[in-house]
This record gives sequence, structure tokens and C-alpha cells, in this order.
Amino acid sequence: MSYLVYIPQDIEEEGKNYLLGKGYKVKIGSDLAEETLMEEIKECDAVLTRSTAVINKRVIQAGENLKVIAKYGVGLDNINIEAATDRGIYVTNTPEANANVVAEHVMALILSLSKNLHLADRELRNGNFAIRNQLFGMDLEGKTLGIIGLGRIGNILAKKASKGFDMKVIGYDPYVAASSNQEIDIVTDLEWLFRNSDIISLHLPLTKTTKGLIGSKEFSWMKSSAYFVNASRGGIVKENDLVEVLQAGKIAGAGVDVFEVEPPEKRNPLFKLDNVIVSPHNAALTKEGSIRMAVHAAMQVHQVLTGVKPNWAVNDPITKGLSM
Ligand code: NAD
Repeated sequence: MSYLVYIPQDIEEEGKNYLLGKGYKVKIGSDLAEETLMEEIKECDAVLTRSTAVINKRVIQAGENLKVIAKYGVGLDNINIEAATDRGIYVTNTPEANANVVAEHVMALILSLSKNLHLADRELRNGNFAIRNQLFGMDLEGKTLGIIGLGRIGNILAKKASKGFDMKVIGYDPYVAASSNQEIDIVTDLEWLFRNSDIISLHLPLTKTTKGLIGSKEFSWMKSSAYFVNASRGGIVKENDLVEVLQAGKIAGAGVDVFEVEPPEKRNPLFKLDNVIVSPHNAALTKEGSIRMAVHAAMQVHQVLTGVKPNWAVNDPITKGLSM
């Protein structure tokens, strides 16, 4: 019998070829409506999903033969892990595939913001060479980067910022008491981190407890010269509050890769602001990173379908626990 792997949003050939090479059949989804997912998942033994398809309880229940939900990427907010665990289904992700790439993207946002690259590029193309005497950037050397969430990405970013750019790094993570990373000065007071950072970057998951964690109160603690970067998940930040402080010039600017609603509306007020650089939730999407995510997720499918405990399981459907 050949197992069937459902891929709601298409992935790189390398991931599909890995599965086909192992003798599985692959079904690419037609659209991401809940009814479509419920219909298309029916006969499938595995689902390999990116971040836009919502694999909720109803979809999981419709997957009668489902044994594994393999996430292409790290964030698991689009998957109901509890419902999967209850049904004895493994949930996996690809933590080794994209952490460095995301940290690189965040450094790109920090560099572009602090050097006003987006404005310099736009103005010069419009013939405004004199802009060189108006756009004064900010040194990174000696500045303080505040990292919220000291997991894989937070730690890699800390290394790049401190070793590559001579920045001082402070970090906040309620679940990390000490870091093996010499570069990070861990603090236990979020307000202190906000008040003492020149750049703040978020690297924590979107969960029930982190939803809306950052809003007006937290932004009011920031220096008016400081930048805010979010390449974690949009829902962690109250986007309207961010827009307000940016419009009022209460902070220097923001780099935003993720949005409260994705895709964001074209008239999203962030898009009208000069002190903002946006990217379309593509921090992890280099060519190499995308291939790694596709292949790593496919490997997780193969491990489960051959009866092996997957390396990157985030739940334990045997004991019904979480292994995150
Ligand atoms: P990770 O699991 O290695 O680290 C997450 C860290 O956040 C953990 O150390 C955890 O203790 C910490 N944390 C949890 N709640 C917190 C809180 N309230 N305050 C501070 N810290 C808290 O994950 P990672 O690989 O570093 O990725 C981090 C997040 O980045 C992911 O959850 C995902 O949502 C997001 N991400 C985004 C992209 C993108 O394309 N923009 C790509 C990959 C990951």
C-alpha cells in the first residue's frame, strides 16, 4: 500500500521528490478554504503544511487516516496541536532549516532601518542626490539590541549582532534562566529591556499567552530614537498600537515581516509610513532555506510513516504530551 501525503500549498520540488522517491503519493491542494482542506485531507496519511493553511480541529478530525502533520517552518500557530495529540497524530516542524536565515533577514531589516536604505534608494531614483545631507543614519557599533525570545533565532541573532557589529545584546525570555551564549546579558524585566534598547527584536512564538503581548504600554517605554523589529508573528504585537507610535514619531521606526492578518490589506497603514520597512513574511524564504524546510518536513513524514519517532516532534501522541 502506498501512503498519500497531502500538501495544501505547493512546496519545492526537492521536498516532493524526496517523498516520491520513497514511494509515497503526493496530493497538492487546490485552495486553502476550510471545506477544501477537510475534503482533500480525507484519504491522506500525512499532511505537509506551510503557514497559511489552517489545520484546525475540524480539519484534523476529517483526516481519518492522518498519522503526522509536518510543518514546513517553525511557527506552529496554524496547527491545533492539542487536537492532533488527542487523535494520536504527530506534529513536527523544521527547527534546523531556517533559524540562521531568519536571523540574517532581521540583520538586513536592522541595517536598512538604521541606514535609511529604503528612503535613500527611493529618493535617489527620483533624482534627489541632495538627500545624502538629510538622511542621517545611526551607528550600530556600541548600540544595544534587546532580543525578546532566546531560542534558536534569538541566539543566532545575538551572535551576529555582537560579533559582527560590535553591538551589546540584552535578552528576555521567561523560560531561559541562563544562556550558554556569552554575548547575551539576560534580564528578567521586560520594561527594563524596552527602556534600555536601541533596537528591539521579537523572536518568540505566537501562543495564547503571547497574543497581543506588545502594545501601547510597551511602546511607551521605548527611547524615541529606538527601532522595533518583528519577524516572529504578527499577532504578538497590537498592530494599531505600533502604527500609532510610528505615526506620532514616538519611536524611530520599525521593520515588519509579519502581520496581524496575513496577507495584510493593501491599505494597511504601515505601508504609508516612511519610517517603516516591510517584507511579506519571507524572512525564512531564501532558495536554500526553502529547500531545507521542504526536505526536512518531508523527512519527518517519512520517519513517522516508517514507524520511527520523528526527530523534530513537538508533541508526543503516544503519552499525549507536548515535547516542545
Ligand atoms: P524557538 O522555539 O527556538 O524559541 C522561541 C523562544 O521564545 C523560546 O526560548 C521560548 O522560551 C521563548 N518565549 C516563549 N514565550 C515567551 C515570552 N512570553 N517572552 C519571551 N520569550 C518567550 O523558536 P525560534 O526558532 O527561535 O523561532 C521563534 C519564532 O519565530 C517562531 O515561533 C516563529 O513564530 C517565528 N518564525 C518566523 C519566521 C518568519 O518567516 N518570519 C520564520 C521562522 C520562525
